[in-house]
Amino acid sequence: MPKSKNRMWHWETERKYGLERHEVYGAYNRWKSIEDGLVIFLRKDEHTQGEYAIHNNKEFREYAQWVAMNRWCEYYHKTKEDFRKRYGFYAVEPKENENV
Ligand SMILES: [Zn+2]
Repeated sequence: MPKSKNRMWHWETERKYGLERHEVYGAYNRWKSIEDGLVIFLRKDEHTQGEYAIHNNKEFREYAQWVAMNRWCEYYHKTKEDFRKRYGFYAVEPKENENV
């Protein structure tokens, strides 16, 4: 399988038939993620099944977290520092970002 360098990760921002909800920030941030709307909707193979599923793929996870952090700042008119205060860390900028 090719390395996922230029892979375009895919998700939906609204629930559609057959999709599963994924909290972009999990564990102790799960409820904040839900409260703030940082949830995405994925097919099973994008969510938990297979090597490109977000739960199994760090690049996908980090990319979604990066996008979510930036959307969060835009939507709530906040800074990345505000984000760090609420979530405990900054999302990492993906290296592939320049290609997407
Ligand atoms: Zn999930």
